[in-house]
Amino acid sequence: MRTVTLKNGKTLPALGMGTWNIGDSQSRRGEEIASLQAGIEAGMTVIDTAEMYGSGRSESLVGEAIADLRDDVYLVSKVTPSNASYDGVQKHCRASLRRLGTDRLDLYLLHWRGGVPLSETVRGMEQLKDDGLILDWGVSNFDTDDMEELDGITDACTANQVLYNLEYRGTEFDLLNEDRERGVMTMAYSPLGQGGDLLSHPAMKDVAKGHETSAGPATTAQIALAWVLRQENVMAIPKAGSSKHLRENVLATEIELTPEDLATLDRAFAPPRRKTHLAMI
Ligand code: NDP
Repeated sequence: MRTVTLKNGKTLPALGMGTWNIGDSQSRRGEEIASLQAGIEAGMTVIDTAEMYGSGRSESLVGEAIADLRDDVYLVSKVTPSNASYDGVQKHCRASLRRLGTDRLDLYLLHWRGGVPLSETVRGMEQLKDDGLILDWGVSNFDTDDMEELDGITDACTANQVLYNLEYRGTEFDLLNEDRERGVMTMAYSPLGQGGDLLSHPAMKDVAKGHETSAGPATTAQIALAWVLRQENVMAIPKAGSSKHLRENVLATEIELTPEDLATLDRAFAPPRRKTHLAMI
């Protein structure tokens, strides 16, 4: 499995698991838990959740899935901006820990920029770190100007989680490189384009035809993930609600896209030529 290295020297698999919308349906619960456990078993040990997802239902389901596996997992959750005051992060982090059934988060992210001064949120995050409730903290949906503002406060940010897939590649113009230079890991969210049109695009089908994995012909989902993973210092966190999708996603790490593949994809999904504001979902 390809890896990314954090600024503290820790190495993580470059393919993790998202959990938005997980835990929302009682009938899919068992399958979702099995899928997360299969992912951990297969080496996708990073799990991304947030207090906002299903108002805590995602965190509760993740807690159930990792109850006997906590030490095998790199656990990431996020605080909602309106809760990101100094006192707010103390309270909301503890609530997340309770739902997750653990005593610590490996990484705690500010979900997006809100009204609380950044310096106050950073102070809250540092306190959580001092108290051992989180091991590291980071941000999400931070564009270049937000990251520059953060540079003026601290260099302790570990990760920036942003929308990145073939349909949204504006960050290639600046943010991805700038974060790489800062030593801030990029976590690419919605790397499968949320399972929408990206996966049925003719160019994706065309590229998939030229690749095999150990389980058979490559799929467009695997091409989408291999494309994100070609970037150094970038982790992809696809969400898979079934073991079938999960197994397919793991095998994406076997695929190396060729220069010809990349050219085909560039023609279908043009790389950015100028600064665009960071898109978010
Ligand atoms: P993804 O791009 O990961 O797509 C998920 C969708 O793709 C689901 O419908 C899933 O279906 C489907 N899928 C998964 N694997 C396959 C496959 N092999 N073949 C076909 N379809 C597949 O979208 P998300 O928006 O969920 O993004 C991933 C994660 O990123 C989130 O779950 C969340 O953790 C994080 N995120 C963070 C945000 C932020 O603001 N920081 C915003 C959005 C997401 P099924 O469930 O049936 O497997």
